[in-house]
Amino acid sequence: MNSLTVSTSKDLENILNHLDAVVYVSDIATYELLYMNQYAIANIAGEADFTRIKGKRCYQVLQKNQSGPCSFCTNGKLPDNGDSYVWEFKNTRNNRWYQCHDRLITWHDNRLVRLEVAADITERKEAEEALQHAQEQLKWLADTDGLTHLYNRRAFYKNAEKLRLSLPTNTLLGLVLLDIDYFKKVNDTYGHEAGDKVLEAIGFTLKTFTSETTIVARTGGEEFAIFLPIKSKKNAKAFAQQIRGAIGKIRVPYYKDVLSCTASAGMSTGYTSIQISSLMRDADRALYRAKASGRDSLCEG
Ligand code: GH3
Ligand code: MG
Ligand code: MG
Repeated sequence: MNSLTVSTSKDLENILNHLDAVVYVSDIATYELLYMNQYAIANIAGEADFTRIKGKRCYQVLQKNQSGPCSFCTNGKLPDNGDSYVWEFKNTRNNRWYQCHDRLITWHDNRLVRLEVAADITERKEAEEALQHAQEQLKWLADTDGLTHLYNRRAFYKNAEKLRLSLPTNTLLGLVLLDIDYFKKVNDTYGHEAGDKVLEAIGFTLKTFTSETTIVARTGGEEFAIFLPIKSKKNAKAFAQQIRGAIGKIRVPYYKDVLSCTASAGMSTGYTSIQISSLMRDADRALYRAKASGRDSLCEG
């Protein structure tokens, strides 16, 4: 025995069995389980003692429905200089997370075996997952308009710029600004709740136009913007008219009434070197002209 007060192998076993950690040993070549402490027997194998495990392979005892060596087995990764290989894993039997320290050691009969010591880190992992989920949720909230679930103005600029920078130089770009005609009248006649329902329906329709290369956003109260690469000005015009047409077809049942609306649009185009803010300015001027010329129409910037 070593210089510790441990005097018998019974004492050692007693210590190992009272560790709050998985400890097991398996043969590197045959995967036979040679030792498991009580914690692992109870928490992973789900057995009362080692007699029911003896002679079995590690993958049969430690993992669920595993008929051969695990695809994630670390036997091939264990350093031969005595260092441990550290990894984190969700056990397939009890679905708990473990941080595993695996190392090669020489067994009393001189064969090479794998010693694993693994601590349960489920609480930490769950806290990390909850934090990540909260961060994703926060990012979504920061980028998303609460009523229509489209991008908000800030996210529109951010994502349109990202798309612009990802496109090959000299790609033609189009920006369509839409503003609902006489929307104040909807609110004044039917109330704000009715107006909200119409905006929601517009958001639902516009969402169908979104894609990896088509950024759609609610940039203001009843104002929407769409940015995308285009083949030609003619195509962009047809696209803008298609969107206006889709908005014009929206029908929102509201008590005994059915609400509908039209949209005016301003369109601007430019090549990839153009700034999004410049496209916005041009589209805004065109939109102003569409409004001035009687609404429910499209003007080009
Ligand atoms: P125009 O054809 O000139 O665009 O007329 P308009 O009435 O649409 O324009 P105006 O800018 O005068 O009014 C926009 C209206 O949109 C006023 C505002 O109350 C309404 N609005 C903006 N945001 C919301 C919203 O979130 N919900 C509702 N219900 N109404 C909104
Ligand atoms: Mg407006
Ligand atoms: Mg309006």
